[in-house]
Amino acid sequence: MLLTDILLLDYKRCQRRSFLNVYGDPLERNSERDFLLKLRQESQNHIASTLKNFYPHYQKPESGFTTWEDRAKATENLMAQGVNCIYQGTLFESNLPIESPSYQPSLFVDDYEFNCLGKPHLLIKQSGNSKFGDWSYYPISIHLGRRPKPEYKIVAAFYAQLVGNLQKTVPPTPVLILRQQNHYPVDLEQWLPKLHDTVQECMEMLIQSQEPEVFISRQRCNLCHWYNHCYAIAQSQQHLSLVPGVTPSRYQFLLGMGVETVESLADTSPINMAEVMGKEVANKLQKQALAIVNNEAIRHSRFPENIKRLIPSNDIELYFDIEAEPELNLDYLLGILLVESSTQREIFYPFLAETPEAEGEIWQQFLDLVNSYQDAPIFHFSDYEVETIKRLGRLYETPRGQINALLTRFIDLHHRVTTSAILPVESYSLKSLANWIGFEWRDRGIGGDQCVWWYDQWLKTGDRTFLNSIVRYNEDDCRATFYLKNWLIEFLD
Ligand code: SF4
Repeated sequence: MLLTDILLLDYKRCQRRSFLNVYGDPLERNSERDFLLKLRQESQNHIASTLKNFYPHYQKPESGFTTWEDRAKATENLMAQGVNCIYQGTLFESNLPIESPSYQPSLFVDDYEFNCLGKPHLLIKQSGNSKFGDWSYYPISIHLGRRPKPEYKIVAAFYAQLVGNLQKTVPPTPVLILRQQNHYPVDLEQWLPKLHDTVQECMEMLIQSQEPEVFISRQRCNLCHWYNHCYAIAQSQQHLSLVPGVTPSRYQFLLGMGVETVESLADTSPINMAEVMGKEVANKLQKQALAIVNNEAIRHSRFPENIKRLIPSNDIELYFDIEAEPELNLDYLLGILLVESSTQREIFYPFLAETPEAEGEIWQQFLDLVNSYQDAPIFHFSDYEVETIKRLGRLYETPRGQINALLTRFIDLHHRVTTSAILPVESYSLKSLANWIGFEWRDRGIGGDQCVWWYDQWLKTGDRTFLNSIVRYNEDDCRATFYLKNWLIEFLD
């Protein structure tokens, strides 16, 4: 068995993912999504700019070898020569370590032998004795993330352990370089023991081929290449992770009570769950399961009766949705659907920045439109629109009074839906809700992350089909918001 840095990273993110990477059928993997390719490209750009800014004089080990042992040997040769900075080195240990000197905590896992492979982005020379002479090395990992996540630290500790073993020193302090190119040393006193526990568990699972159970968590599974495979299993099992609100800890508790499927959760009395998760959560979970089983929306028991106050209406109403490019901190499309009931007029206004520099211009166009319909409520879905209005107001120095007045017209439909109804959906995203009530996007299977990729392609190629696709998607988001609002009024009435 080969324990790689990538396997370890995946294990920390999702144990099942590392299992499937070893044992899964490659034909069941999703094809590579455009958005992931973009992320990979950004990561490479980030590494290139870090090298340029901090380590322009690196050396790469000789290439052309076919075995990990030979590649590791080439890296070791550079270390023995005392090269200052080694880029794309390979660390390999075979039959990990049966005998380990007392200064060196071993990665040896009880009863198992396995090989280790690590490819730290950089190995940096520092003073201090090692088997090479009066110098040694420490590893650097470069990541696009903004925070030093636990999975980064575990992998950094893994590199430190392998470097320590190779150069016959205690594992050197590894360093993370994150998105802002800040350097972050990893505390090995804390992370080496965690590494050893993680390796032990991970190798036990892999060597004994124990397949971890599916647990669909939107945040974690969204970009995973096993998503379709896992989702199909979860659906066939009526898995509880498909019920919004069932977190991993609540799931364990439910299993302990003998509640294993959505149907059994729907049949469970909330009183039995309330002691551990509280009355409100227990009620909500049971009703959520009931809604799914019956495929029927349920009115929230704490719903305020005054619908007009909850969802104001006007002859002219505006439906608002944004497309953004987080990497550039840019909101490049402010889409507004204007609906006039008396004339049945519907006009879509896509305020689109064709270059990042045009953001200020589209902001002004947006303000001109919304200010010319002072009585029109502005419907949107989730907080992002409100946060963006505040950000753009600050950035382009729009008077604060004007922003505050504008925000009083904003109505967050996500909040309105979640506080007044329980729908038979797996998530309360606009897409899930609108699909359930019968709205269909013209381009199926597209998400906001695809737009991020399209905009990137537009900037690179100047091909307008990318822009047209984004505008079409954004218009459908606005129309879905309109559709959802109408459904909610009818349902609550
Ligand atoms: S889809 Fe989710 S549960 Fe399945 S392997 Fe990926 S992250 Fe893990």
